[in-house]
Amino acid sequence: MSTGVEQSKAWFTRAKTVIPGGVNSPVRAFNSVGGTPRFMVRGEGPHLWDADGNRYVDLVSSWGPMILGHAHPDVVRAAREAAVHGLSFGTPTLGEVELAEEIISRVAPVEQVRLVNSGTEATMSAIRLARGFTGRPKIIKFAGCYHGHVDALLAEAGSGVATLGLPTSPGVTGAQAADTLVLPYNDLDAVRKSFVDNPDVIAAIITEAAAGNMGAVAPHEGFNAGLKEIADEHGALLIMDEVMTGFRVSRAGWFGLEGVAGDLYTFGKVMSGGLPAAAFGGRADVMAKLAPGGPVYQAGTLSGNPVAVATGLATLRAADDAVYAALDANSKRLGDLFGEALTAAGVVHNVQYAGNLVSVFFSEKPVHDYPGAQAAETWRFPPFFHALLDAGVYAPPSAYEAWFVNAAMDDAAFGVIEAALPVAARAAAKAVKP
Ligand code: PLP
Repeated sequence: MSTGVEQSKAWFTRAKTVIPGGVNSPVRAFNSVGGTPRFMVRGEGPHLWDADGNRYVDLVSSWGPMILGHAHPDVVRAAREAAVHGLSFGTPTLGEVELAEEIISRVAPVEQVRLVNSGTEATMSAIRLARGFTGRPKIIKFAGCYHGHVDALLAEAGSGVATLGLPTSPGVTGAQAADTLVLPYNDLDAVRKSFVDNPDVIAAIITEAAAGNMGAVAPHEGFNAGLKEIADEHGALLIMDEVMTGFRVSRAGWFGLEGVAGDLYTFGKVMSGGLPAAAFGGRADVMAKLAPGGPVYQAGTLSGNPVAVATGLATLRAADDAVYAALDANSKRLGDLFGEALTAAGVVHNVQYAGNLVSVFFSEKPVHDYPGAQAAETWRFPPFFHALLDAGVYAPPSAYEAWFVNAAMDDAAFGVIEAALPVAARAAAKAVKP
């Protein structure tokens, strides 16, 4: 199926000269799977095309935002219409208000939102706000959860940090990391103990509403509710990071599936429509502490950019019940195909879901936390990945990532996946432990 990768190879060589590692975000590199990252030139519906003209069924969906598929006509029209009226004003605009209203109308515990440019900015700002509101320094995060590349949150982080096997990052000072308490995911006793050991100093618990950055690992029933209860008991805030799950796993994100209210929320990806936009929001009394009304400073030259706001709004407005039904159905269909192919090839595996996030762990036991994810036979992943890629299926290039379906996937796209998976499963079966 592949017509070669000469163009991607040549561009990668050029890229490595001028961009560290040749990529602008580590998860795009093929470091953990080997080979040449594909340089994409076009996306439409469920497909991507690379610089050599190869077509792929895209199971990354830009790491989450593209729930409608690529170049959805409504979203492209919104971008065009916004762009012709000017790209950035540095003043309030109408669309920002409408996007804030749309987010608030979907996620009941969110009373106010502030727009930012990336999920990283959203979590960084939410933490500063939680510290400013409570007057306390420490933060609890969970191993294997990723909240962007915020200094204080890189310890035992998921996503690219997990893929590259980094415990944390050089460049993060002891002082920046000292106020971060890293606990095992899905372990409420550890959280209770941490509050006892650190009385009156914990400002917030930050958690992925459902973990998606060590693969799809859903919270145990009662875990998020328990976090809220413990946080309330100790005067701390619960920050629900819904950058990945928000507006993807339901119209109200993970909150829509579970109904546990956080004090603060972080969003990104889907609500941006694919342009750089993100948000944090939550209780009005907490958000009131933000500048200019309050003393906690937070700002952004391009925050609420009119084109990004327009694509975000167009995406959310197009994301109706039929879109969410399609995302759920496509995720289940993909997971079933994983299961059939890997079982037929005799590969030990666990297909896991967190809402419609799906991933496959090469492990016998279900994965509930980061050590579980690390214990999987991740060395089976590179041949699995490359067999899919060669057959025209673009999977996340890491064993530690969730797979992101979109609503544009049709029978033809699934036909490509269905044809590719048995070969990939046999490649995984033949993999040899290094
Ligand atoms: N929080 C979560 C749960 C994420 O999955 C991510 C990115 O994948 C982020 C925060 C950071 O978002 P961004 O990459 O836009 O900075």
